[in-house]
Amino acid sequence: MTAEVINGKELAQEIRKEMKEEVLQLKEQGITPHLTVILIGDDPASKSYVRGKEKASYETGISSELIELPSSTTEKELLNRIDDLNHDDNVDGILVQLPLPSHIQEQHVIEAISPEKDVDGFHPISIGRMMTGKDTFLPCTPNGIITMLKSRNIQLEGKHAVIIGRSNIVGKPVGQLLLNENATVTYCHSRTKDLMEHTTTADILIAAVGKPNVIDAKYVKDGAAVIDVGINRLDDGSLTGDVDFDSVKDKASYITPVPQGVGPMTITMLLKNTIKAARGIHQ
Ligand code: NAD
Repeated sequence: MTAEVINGKELAQEIRKEMKEEVLQLKEQGITPHLTVILIGDDPASKSYVRGKEKASYETGISSELIELPSSTTEKELLNRIDDLNHDDNVDGILVQLPLPSHIQEQHVIEAISPEKDVDGFHPISIGRMMTGKDTFLPCTPNGIITMLKSRNIQLEGKHAVIIGRSNIVGKPVGQLLLNENATVTYCHSRTKDLMEHTTTADILIAAVGKPNVIDAKYVKDGAAVIDVGINRLDDGSLTGDVDFDSVKDKASYITPVPQGVGPMTITMLLKNTIKAARGIHQ
């Protein structure tokens, strides 16, 4: 079997085209969705992610503002900035780019963002609403993954989904969203014994490990849909996923590439949340 490649870049472009129309309609009603991104310090990867978010916002007609703060910024100063943005009626969505310098506690920052402007979907209220199946801002990467699976009408109900990784931003929430879709979900992680025993029973396999090409064909059941979340930079500067694309593509039914896979979908779901925030606030 040769897998069908789900190209996240192409799918993202299709969705963004529709969003552009939606934003135009909102603008006719006097609403321009506005995203404010806070970047602390000068981590090159974070800078590049933020640039991608700004570019995509601009192309979709969403107004975006980048607040760059030095890495010496204190937690209190950051929380004050967030408080100002929470009270600024012109700001629909607030995103603080992670990771943060070690003297700032990530959870304090996440919880300081108003749940009405929580376009990353990381606030405990957003997570609680997601867990109970209520309407909310869904976390962007997990929502992007579900959107990719649904774009190919891949059946989720009753299927066995195995997630490798249990981070708060990818592994745990994507499992929850799959459970909400009536899949049977298994979480695997660094302490899982005999990983292969689990992954080879997966109809849907999600790799969110952060280690280059660790999931090869041996880990994959014939005909599985394989989603590669990993973004790993190799010594030669190129990017690769967690999945060994070349071996797995001959065994899976669907596969996502890296780059041009989950990454562009993550940004697209952020734009979706920003439009949702603008609608909610101005309703
Ligand atoms: P993380 O480091 O927080 O979590 C990694 C998870 O992998 C952990 O839960 C750990 O238990 C598990 N793990 C590590 N080694 C393992 C092993 N040998 N076997 C089984 N499980 C193992 O990372 P994260 O934030 O969840 O990100 C994972 C990857 O996804 C990274 O490469 C990251 O860059 C990428 N990522 C991509 C996007 C995107 O938009 N495409 C978004 C977020 C993260």
